[in-house]
Amino acid sequence: RETPRSNGHEERILVSVRLRPLNQKEKARNDVSEWECISPNAIRCKNTLPESSSSFDAYTFDNVFGDDCSTQQIYEAAVKQVALSVLSGINSSVFAYGQTSSGKTYTMTGITEHAVRDIYDYIETNQDKEFVLKFSAMEIYNENVRDLLGADNTPLRLLDDPRKGTIVEKLKEEVLTGRSHLQRLLSICAAQRTTQETTMNETSSRSHQILRLTIEGSPRHGVGTRRSGILVASVYFVDLAGSERASQALTKGTRLREGGHINRSLLALGTVIRKLSKERNGHIPYRDSKLTRILQNSLGGNARTAIICTISPTRNHVEQSKNTLFFAGCAK
Ligand code: ADP
Ligand code: MG
Repeated sequence: RETPRSNGHEERILVSVRLRPLNQKEKARNDVSEWECISPNAIRCKNTLPESSSSFDAYTFDNVFGDDCSTQQIYEAAVKQVALSVLSGINSSVFAYGQTSSGKTYTMTGITEHAVRDIYDYIETNQDKEFVLKFSAMEIYNENVRDLLGADNTPLRLLDDPRKGTIVEKLKEEVLTGRSHLQRLLSICAAQRTTQETTMNETSSRSHQILRLTIEGSPRHGVGTRRSGILVASVYFVDLAGSERASQALTKGTRLREGGHINRSLLALGTVIRKLSKERNGHIPYRDSKLTRILQNSLGGNARTAIICTISPTRNHVEQSKNTLFFAGCAK
């Protein structure tokens, strides 16, 4: 797989698409996949629906992954360089965007595991530097932020820190003792996501799960030496709410409605990413939602972003899949 779009400078926003394989239920119904990957960068809809225009049926992105691609392949080609920039002090964020049941959680869970493995491998082979890793996990539901590692369910406030920007007040941050510690915390978060999915599907499809890994790296010095050259950066792994409610508003340019049924954070993220991909130095409306406020430092400026847009293969989801690809196209 070649590096996409070799235009000299490194891409700030990498947009990829992943097509989910047919599941058992779909196979049992004799559903077929309506999508076909025609190159490592392009996907097209095989059967044009009567109401849609055929000119919109092929789509090009940095990477397109067919239903035979593993999460490891996706990680290596579309996420690794973004996620590991955290080791050189560059903030980054990795998102999964798509309608409910298109494979967001499946994709993000695997990607996070691969990134964590690589980060620890790097740390263990670079003994000349000292690293401190910290982990936090939160969820945004109805514009309320909750701590996924905290003992209670109280919504957390966002505060503006003159030095650090927006911070989540009282968010628990665990200093990691090693790989197994982080793996334990990740399984706690994954278990919460799974429980939600089975007990209150509605909540899980409307909430954003945000995992944050902060890495502080400094050269190893003798005792008493001034600590200089410290690099601090965060990487965010974000399993977004289902895009089905927001897609209409995003594609039709509907305005944000307070208290409406559409997801404010998801819409604001779409706008922020679209603006960042066009005019990085213009006004970026981070303050429009909790999600974009929290992620500000890992979206703009020098930060790197990888977005994996997931789509379901079947005919009944074609319209939503096209909305997802439209979103993906705007992010380029
Ligand atoms: P979402 O988080 O977008 O709602 P999930 O990640 O929960 O969707 O995926 C829905 C179902 O499909 C899950 O049972 C998941 O294990 C399965 N699935 C998703 N993507 C893949 C894939 N690429 N390969 C195999 N199974 C997948
Ligand atoms: Mg999910």
